[in-house]
Amino acid sequence: MTLGPTIPAVAVDADLADELVEAVRTFVTKEVLPVASDLEHADEYPEALVEQMRAMGLFGVTIPTEYGGLGLDIVTYARIVEEIAFGWMSLTGILNTHFITATLIASAGTDEQKDRWLERMATGELRGCLSLSEPDAGSDTRSLRCKATPDGDEYVLDGTKMWVTNGERASLVTLAAKTPEGITCFIVEKEPGPSFGGITVSRTIPKLGYKGVETVEMSYSGHRVPATAVLGGTSTLGRGLPLILGALELGRINIAARACGVARAAFEAAISYAQQREAFGVPIAKHQAIQFKLADMATKLEAARLLTQSAARKKQAGERCDVEAGMAKLFASETAFECATEAMRVHGGYGYTSELPVERYYRDAPLMLIGEGTNEIQRLVIARGLLDRYAQ
Ligand SMILES: Cc1cc2nc3c(=O)[nH]c(=O)nc-3n(C[C@H](O)[C@H](O)[C@H](O)COP(=O)(O)OP(=O)(O)OC[C@H]3O[C@@H](n4cnc5c(N)ncnc54)[C@H](O)[C@@H]3O)c2cc1C
Repeated sequence: MTLGPTIPAVAVDADLADELVEAVRTFVTKEVLPVASDLEHADEYPEALVEQMRAMGLFGVTIPTEYGGLGLDIVTYARIVEEIAFGWMSLTGILNTHFITATLIASAGTDEQKDRWLERMATGELRGCLSLSEPDAGSDTRSLRCKATPDGDEYVLDGTKMWVTNGERASLVTLAAKTPEGITCFIVEKEPGPSFGGITVSRTIPKLGYKGVETVEMSYSGHRVPATAVLGGTSTLGRGLPLILGALELGRINIAARACGVARAAFEAAISYAQQREAFGVPIAKHQAIQFKLADMATKLEAARLLTQSAARKKQAGERCDVEAGMAKLFASETAFECATEAMRVHGGYGYTSELPVERYYRDAPLMLIGEGTNEIQRLVIARGLLDRYAQ
C-alpha cells in the first residue's frame, strides 16, 4: 500500500539513463563548478544554467514520454540529482518542487489536467513549486489555515504560505488549502513574477545557504481559481494531504540524493586536500586521525547512496516507501552534515574561508536536516511505519 498516488510503471532505457547521467556529470564539471561559488555568494539566480538544464531535458526526466518527457525512472532521477548537487545543491532545489508537482499531476490529475500542463512542464516552460508550509504550520500540516472558499464554479483563496521555494519563478503552484471537506490540493496557475491576480510574493526569505534559488512567503487575497484547479477533480476534495504527503516521498528521495551529492563533494575535497597539505613533515593524510575521518565519510556516503537508491526503487515500483524514503532522507542528510563539518576540519583554517567551496557545503548541508520534513519528523514517520508493519 502506498500513502499517496502510485507512480506509473516505466520500462527504463538503461542506456539512455546512463548517457544522461554521464551528460549531467560533464555539464556539472564544465558549466556548474566554475561558477557555483560566485553565483552562490552573489545569491544570483542561475538563469543560464537553468536554460542549459532545460535544453538537456532535465525538467522532463520522469515525465512520461507521451507528454514529451524522457520517461525515466526515479533511480535515474536520484542519480542525476546527486550529480547536480555535487556541483551546486541549489540547482537540485529548482528541480525538486517541479517534479513533486509533475508527479502529482501525472499520477492523480484528470486527463484534462495532464494534457493542459505536463507537456509544457517537460520542456521546463512551466515550472512547479510546492506550497504546503505556513508561518504557523510546518511539521504540523493538519493545522493549515489557508482557505479555499467555494463560490459557484470557482474557489476563492485567502491566506499566507511560507517557505515557497521557486515561488516567484514558478507558473504552477501545488497548493494545500482548506475547503469544507478538509485539506484539498489545488494546482494554481500564475505568471512568474512578484504578483499575479490576488497572489503576492510578500517577502523573499534571506537564508544561511541554499542561495540563488528563491524561497518566499506568498499571500493570497481573494484570488479566484476555477474548480478545475482541484487536483484530480471533485473525488479528491478533502484528500489533499495524503496526496501531497505521498508526493513528498519523492521530495525526500530528492533530498537524500542531493545530500549524497553534497557529502561526496565534501569527501572529495577532503581526500584531495589531505594528500596535499603537509603538517609535521608529512601529508596530513598520513595522520591516523585524518584517515579515520576519511574512512567514516566514505563509508557513510556509500550507505547513504544505497539507502537512496533502495527508496527510489521502491517508490518506482509503487510500493509503500514512507519508511524507506524517511530512512534515506534521515541518514543521507545527517551524513551530508557530518561530511561537510569534517571536510572543514580537514581543511583547517582554510576551510573556514569563503575562497574554498567547503564553506558552501557547510552552509548548504543543514537545510537537508529540515526540508521535506525535519529529521525529528522522519524518525516519527519511520517509527510509525515500522509499528504498522510489525503490528502484533
Ligand atoms: C530553505 C527552506 C525551503 C523550504 N521550501 C519549502 C517549500 O518549497 N514548500 C513548503 O511547503 N515548505 C518548504 N519549507 C518548509 C519546511 O518543510 C519546514 O520548515 C519544515 O517542515 C519544518 O517546519 P517548521 O519550520 O514550521 O518547524 P516546526 O514544525 O515549527 O518545528 C520546529 C522544531 O520542532 C520539532 N518538532 C515539531 N513537531 C515535533 C514532534 N511532533 N515531535 C518532535 N519534534 C517536533 C521540529 O523537528 C523542529 O526541530 C522550506 C524550509 C526551508 C528552511
